[in-house]
Amino acid sequence: MCGIIAAASNRNVGKLLVQGLHKMEYRGYDSAGIALHQDQDIKHLRTLGKVQLLEEKMIAEKPKSKLGIAHTRWATHGKPTLSNAHPHQFGAVSVVHNGIIENFRELRRELSEHNIHAETDTDTETIAMLTGHFIAKGQSPTDAARSTLKKLDGAFAVCFLFAGYDDLMIAARKGSPLAIGYGKGEMFVGSDAIALTPLTNQLSYLEEGDFAILTRQSVDIHDKDGQPVQREKR
Ligand code: GLU
Repeated sequence: MCGIIAAASNRNVGKLLVQGLHKMEYRGYDSAGIALHQDQDIKHLRTLGKVQLLEEKMIAEKPKSKLGIAHTRWATHGKPTLSNAHPHQFGAVSVVHNGIIENFRELRRELSEHNIHAETDTDTETIAMLTGHFIAKGQSPTDAARSTLKKLDGAFAVCFLFAGYDDLMIAARKGSPLAIGYGKGEMFVGSDAIALTPLTNQLSYLEEGDFAILTRQSVDIHDKDGQPVQREKR
């Protein structure tokens, strides 16, 4: 199983995220990647193979960002290649995903009717494509992510960033675990508590169907029926 870690902070998050990926290496993976919000855009760095290679790329490029998502992939759809590595991007949307989207072929067919075509072999790219499509139709990032998740069959933990929104992350789970980490003026998301414990000792776990809207200062969680909920901090 692969890993997700994400952070919205007032400090530079690149190094924190790569350290989180290192902590999850024991789970196994074939590639690693990171998306960092910078100015009004999102910078993507991806590598095939070890997290160490991603770290070397980060050291060489020194990207500065206070908002980012990172991933180690265990390929289920599409070979382990650089273009299939996460995060996946479409328009302003960047997404990391653990799990499998079972109906991705059908969703791809629907999107192709809108002249939106896949560029990778992954099921995950469909999530970014759908969300980007809903944004292009006028939905807010939050609504677009919610509309997308309603259409997905399968198991997933996902985390989204949106270019132009430097204090917003969306996280959701259905069938794959995801934890929220609470810091002082910073918030984290992780698929594995082991990646979050160096950053904070206050965690809560999303439940099946939960949808979370995160900023540096807050998290709003909604359950599978769309009702606001609190998840116990441990
Ligand atoms: N199904 C996705 C892929 O093959 C995610 C795999 C994973 O959980 O790492 O890219």
